[in-house]
Amino acid sequence: MPNTSQVISCKAAICWGAGKPVTVEEIQVDPPKATEVRVKMLCASLCHTDISSIQGFPYINFPLALGHEGVGVVESVGDQVRNLKEGDVVIPTYIGECQECENCVSGKTNLCLTYPIRLTGLLPDNTSRISIRGQRLHHVLSCATWSEYMVSDANYTLKVDPTIDPAHASFISCGFSTGYGAAWKEAKVESGSSVAVFGLGAVGLGAISGAKMLGATKIIGIDKNEMKREKGEAFGMTDFIKAGDSAKSVSELVKEMSGGMGLDYSFECSGVAPLLTESVEATKVGTGKTIAIGTGTEPIIPFGLTSIMYGRTLKGSVFGGLKAISDLSIVANKCQKEEFPLQELFTHEVPLTDINKAFELLKKPNCVKVVIKMSH
Ligand SMILES: [Zn+2]
Ligand SMILES: [Zn+2]
Repeated sequence: MPNTSQVISCKAAICWGAGKPVTVEEIQVDPPKATEVRVKMLCASLCHTDISSIQGFPYINFPLALGHEGVGVVESVGDQVRNLKEGDVVIPTYIGECQECENCVSGKTNLCLTYPIRLTGLLPDNTSRISIRGQRLHHVLSCATWSEYMVSDANYTLKVDPTIDPAHASFISCGFSTGYGAAWKEAKVESGSSVAVFGLGAVGLGAISGAKMLGATKIIGIDKNEMKREKGEAFGMTDFIKAGDSAKSVSELVKEMSGGMGLDYSFECSGVAPLLTESVEATKVGTGKTIAIGTGTEPIIPFGLTSIMYGRTLKGSVFGGLKAISDLSIVANKCQKEEFPLQELFTHEVPLTDINKAFELLKKPNCVKVVIKMSH
């Protein structure tokens, strides 16, 4: 039985450099330091951001232990950790919440200044507990969920109800919650309002779910894949536009479906560069609000300036504006009570050793989420 003083050898998905293949190799996971916890992963999942990480975007250091969505059980804790104990079921997060810094107390943002997003891929002390053949490994931000064990700082770890479905818990650790939070915390969608969601992956389906919860009465989903229609409907979408079927632009089609005025809110979840302008154009002149949460791999993209000249608002968001403890715990509660049909997201599953299959599966039209099962 491992304990806090032992190094654990286990399997993890590794990428040695931008564009290099992903390999499953044995790594060493050191014991947690004072404020840290070592987590035995139960399951993980694949998010589109993982594909951009492998390409080295946006701030990735190599060699890299992959994965940022997942759920696990605390195996051991550092001696200063008070809020977590061995056996707790936890979601590793990539942003913390101190509840004391200027941003946390502002009530306006989830971007905590004390426990920020770790762009270095290292823990707060600028090291990591994971290594391979003596060489330090980096995380994706502060997670490495495609690993049988990982160490995270307790301030970047959320305890959840142990009866939560592990696959569903993994889905809410990034993608779904990002969309859900964007509707809830960033747009603050109002009852009776109208919404367009561009891109119906887990993020877009989360935005639909959030808009529905807040009482939006018209929720238009847009995707080039017809198979996403029934997924959107399961989460509360009222209308569907199959992108690419018409000579008209998507924003024109949205306006036609809304009496010519456009909608109150839109969510750009696809990361497809030209759709950013389209998503803003799809909203009402003077009052429309667009939340950009899709991550492409182009750092600079062309944008139609006139779309925001007419009083519309475009806002970016990380993790849908959800605070990693106070808000994510509410989403986790809803997940545990099965208030969202998260089983609709679960389309494929692979063992960690077949991780490369997961990338192939994600290209299939019927794929929403690939769950990665740990072998232990
Ligand atoms: Zn803070
Ligand atoms: Zn993600």
